[in-house]
Amino acid sequence: MSDDCLFCTIIAGDIPGDMVLETERVVAFRDIAPKAPVHVLVVPRTHVANVAAAAREIPEVLAEMAEVAQRVADAECGGQFRWIFNTGARAGQSVFHVHGHVIGGGELGWNPA
Ligand code: 5GP
Ligand code: ZN
Repeated sequence: MSDDCLFCTIIAGDIPGDMVLETERVVAFRDIAPKAPVHVLVVPRTHVANVAAAAREIPEVLAEMAEVAQRVADAECGGQFRWIFNTGARAGQSVFHVHGHVIGGGELGWNPA
């Protein structure tokens, strides 16, 4: 838990989150400003800054995040989704507690990859 971290505060229940799915190690809640019909954030309960730190420090939890992302997409958008990790401010990261954006529903027009 990091005191000044928005997502740690949501995970602790001190700020409400619109929870979609919770496991012992991972939570999924709706993004407050959705960019697609389905826009859910998949977040480990442990505070690590980004996806590479997660791979290094909590690899089993990162794998569980992938399974949770798939379960959310199975329930909400036919199992088809993009999973986006913004890494660094210039790439759009604004919360430095790793989170995968599950983006789906409808046609996803913009495909930078
Ligand atoms: P990032 O920009 O770091 O990749 O993603 C952070 C995301 O958190 C953004 O999509 C933003 O809309 C979302 N967000 C910011 N504040 C809140 C909040 O208080 N609650 C929820 N559920 N999402 C938030
Ligand atoms: Zn945190």
